[in-house]
Amino acid sequence: MLNIVLFGPPGSGKGTQSQKLIEKYQLVHISTGEILRKEIAEKTPFGIVAQKFIDDGNYVPDYMAIEIIQDVIEKNSGGKGFIFDGFPRTVYQAETLNNILNKYNSGVSVMISFDVDEEILISRLQNRSGVSCRPDDRNKEIIKKRLELYHQKTAVVKKYYLEINKYQSVNGLGDIDKIFSDICKVIENILK
Ligand code: ADP
Repeated sequence: MLNIVLFGPPGSGKGTQSQKLIEKYQLVHISTGEILRKEIAEKTPFGIVAQKFIDDGNYVPDYMAIEIIQDVIEKNSGGKGFIFDGFPRTVYQAETLNNILNKYNSGVSVMISFDVDEEILISRLQNRSGVSCRPDDRNKEIIKKRLELYHQKTAVVKKYYLEINKYQSVNGLGDIDKIFSDICKVIENILK
């Protein structure tokens, strides 16, 4: 299996690039954020619990994010692999992802990190709030909190993948197709 973790702060372009990658490599896209938003829209018990965390700009507890990915991996374990978008966000999630994939004799092939300047992130998130209809994109304070949380809890996930030699970075600024081609180069290299 080809298992790619897309890594970067909110607004760094993970969702956009995921769409292009699933087409090219026929992977299953897992966005924990997207699944959570769907659960919230459908007002499921899971969604109702998640909503409180997300609206405040907090992460949902690890067990919730893990339950989501475990379920999708189980249902698609016969496929070509996965793109993880917005997961893992903590070291505990990264370790658990490894354990789950090990059960299928697989692991994370590469973690691709998007480098984007913070000021640009804030304006990107505010701009997309018009189209995304996401309450967490509308408020500058909540955006700042999400970015802080990213630095506090998630930036260390980068270190985790660096240590196991799975870390690669691409410049997340500029033309969407150029970023896509940089990501593809990384993938082609590991497929060699
Ligand atoms: P963004 O990267 O723009 O914040 P996402 O769609 O990835 O957007 O996630 C939206 C929200 O869902 C996050 O701010 C967080 O509250 C929650 N979330 C998503 N994935 C996880 C995860 N792996 N662990 C904890 N919380 C998560």
